Amino acid sequence: MIKVNESYISAEISDIIKELKTELELNGIKRFYKSIDTPKNYMVCCPFHKKGQEKRPSMGILKKDGTSHCFACQWTGSITEMISNCFGYDDFGIFGSKWLIKNFLTLEVEKRNDIQLDFSRNSRIDSNTNTYVRPEELDKYRCYPPHPYWAKRGITDERIIELFDLGYDKETDCITFPVRDIKGNCLFIARRSVRTKYFHYPSGVEKPLYGIYELYQLNNMPKELIICESMLDALTCWQYGKYAVALNGLGNELSIAQIKKLPCRKVILATDKDDAGKKARIRLRKELNNKIVTELNYKTYPDHAKDMNDMTREEFYALGEVF
Ligand SMILES: [Zn+2]
Repeated sequence: MIKVNESYISAEISDIIKELKTELELNGIKRFYKSIDTPKNYMVCCPFHKKGQEKRPSMGILKKDGTSHCFACQWTGSITEMISNCFGYDDFGIFGSKWLIKNFLTLEVEKRNDIQLDFSRNSRIDSNTNTYVRPEELDKYRCYPPHPYWAKRGITDERIIELFDLGYDKETDCITFPVRDIKGNCLFIARRSVRTKYFHYPSGVEKPLYGIYELYQLNNMPKELIICESMLDALTCWQYGKYAVALNGLGNELSIAQIKKLPCRKVILATDKDDAGKKARIRLRKELNNKIVTELNYKTYPDHAKDMNDMTREEFYALGEVF
């Protein structure tokens, strides 16, 4: 994992280099002509010697921490220094750190030290109890009209944008998804880059179910609920008039327990159409033993779609369901 300031970047080195290559190219700088993936290193053509035009990859970037070393010219440094130098900055990696954060992550959970006493008997006492995102921070990301990227992802209903408090962070060029607990406290802000496919979560958080607080804002709890992988998938369902929550992945103990507690009788499993999604459905079927469980009929899943956010309204309504 690459550590930048106090945060961890979860992106693969190969993706970082791909983005770096694209951005340099946009600036008229051709680098990273070739790359080779090896178990420990991602090997790239060194951006520094032979004016960055060497034909065979001599620079190894260690996958575990991003340390970069060229065995031809002996350039050695951290990945942030390497990125800085590619853009012509000799600043000990300050530009590179900012670039990585802008493109691949941002996590800001305000750690509050004041202890909030909770006297309710059944409250789960854990380290997260008193860690909420401050209202002022949330307010920073609210904008009207909504950032156009929401419409690009098909989320155009302003009631949904308001209910989920969907925003945009101009510092990181990311759309923002506040993730709330059932009482509406914002646990953390997840982000998705407007320019890359990356989602960013704070490091070390147990991913809760996304959308529970919002469900409880409805007048009536829906009788059936769609379970998706990503937040954008869940929002897509709402946009098309169906209620959904997102696992923020494939589901963990916390999110599964949260689904079990929801007062709706039936759930429709709608994880992605890949092996991981299938395994998640098998697990969910086993664990959600207090619900009526069905799943999408994946034969009706459009070929081009990787997930529900890729579907048109027509495709969404053409999806079948099987027990
Ligand atoms: Zn070199």
